[in-house]
Amino acid sequence: MRRFFVPFSILIAALAVDREWFGSIPPSWLSLPIWRLVFGLVFLVAWRFRRGRAALLMLTVAAIVEATQAWGLTLGNTPPSQRGAAVVLLGTAWLLWLALLPWLSEWRFLSWPGVWRFAALAVTGLTIGNILTAAGPYGLTLRQVALRHGPIIADWPAAPLPHLLSAACFLSLVSLLWGYLKRPWPFEVGLLAIWLCASLACLRAWQGRGGIAFVEGPRPFLLAAGLILGSSLVEGAFSLAFEDGLTSLPARRALEESLLQLGPRYSLAMVDIDHFKKLNDRHGHEVGDQVLRMVAGMLRSVGGGGEAFRYGGEEFTILFPGKGLEEVEPHLETLRRQIAERRFAVRSPGRPRGKKAQGSRGQGAQGKTLRVTVSLGAAQRSQRAGSPEMVMKAADKALYRSKKGGRNRLTTTR
Ligand code: GH3
Ligand code: MG
Ligand code: MG
Repeated sequence: MRRFFVPFSILIAALAVDREWFGSIPPSWLSLPIWRLVFGLVFLVAWRFRRGRAALLMLTVAAIVEATQAWGLTLGNTPPSQRGAAVVLLGTAWLLWLALLPWLSEWRFLSWPGVWRFAALAVTGLTIGNILTAAGPYGLTLRQVALRHGPIIADWPAAPLPHLLSAACFLSLVSLLWGYLKRPWPFEVGLLAIWLCASLACLRAWQGRGGIAFVEGPRPFLLAAGLILGSSLVEGAFSLAFEDGLTSLPARRALEESLLQLGPRYSLAMVDIDHFKKLNDRHGHEVGDQVLRMVAGMLRSVGGGGEAFRYGGEEFTILFPGKGLEEVEPHLETLRRQIAERRFAVRSPGRPRGKKAQGSRGQGAQGKTLRVTVSLGAAQRSQRAGSPEMVMKAADKALYRSKKGGRNRLTTTR
């Protein structure tokens, strides 16, 4: 949920500018040079981080900004219906490209997949440019443009957005939600916020198609889309460094940072899954990964103000800032008991799909349930163990005693 914070804050800021919640913003703040600066920087970061999807999206937005600016210059000669056509075509293209992104894998910039994708984007831009310039200088009405280029643009209905645009909005939202459910990563969260920017930009441009608001209305949302894209790149790099990819618990690097911020009183527990190697050998690495994820899920909801980290392998650390051992012991004991009592339902991997139907052995064929136990060792800061490293060492020793004593138990050292 924390991943939603920055992108949606930027979106709310754009809404505040649009609605003038804090007074009007000088137009120079949203001017073309500012936008180009944002575009250039984000594109550079995307290139540096090898994020082809982000670069492609940034080019899409840049093309839209430049196109609407160019159209803004010839505003006097263009009737609103043709400006409406620009909104529909550019908006639909933007939303459809957005819808495509969750289906694309990342690629290297200088590779054939990259060349094809950038070329496809260029062709989209040229096609739209062609349709719009065909309409512009000859003063064609929208109906004539529609007749000339086939049934792309229908009559304008009384709906807030033309049907084609509404359909593109809906389609891309479905695609982006699906993408988010598949991979709830920072870029996918950013795409959801950018979808809102795109929809609001289309709405503003459509409402303002009668005047200069056609160009100025969507500006805050276009700028916000660029900033959200930039923030999602930074957020992605951050989570790569500080978050564990398998369990999505904070990783060891995050633990090291937290250890630097502790006060004079804290407790720390080391948690290790029992006989995990055996579980891996017996059921396969994939089942082992599932168990790691499920145990991590239970550690995450430990009580007593503890924060769980993946220390490495099948070892975890729980940090209790501001707490003494006597306060955290009952929570750790509850955690140990809950894990030992839980039956972990795992999907059996590697079962050939074709044979599944043949050997129908009832529910057994669907998956199985496993029992897992953990051993814990906990220590608190004391005069003897004054630094985080020493507390951790003490907790490790206590864990070792738990293992020696028969596993599935908690040992503490004061
Ligand atoms: P003990 O009860 O003494 O802790 O025994 P153990 O088998 O749990 O401990 P050991 O340290 O011998 O083995 C840990 C195993 O954890 C070895 C390694 O294959 C497995 N492991 C480490 N990281 C991962 C992972 O990310 N996924 C899976 N599936 N297994 C992992
Ligand atoms: Mg271990
Ligand atoms: Mg172990």
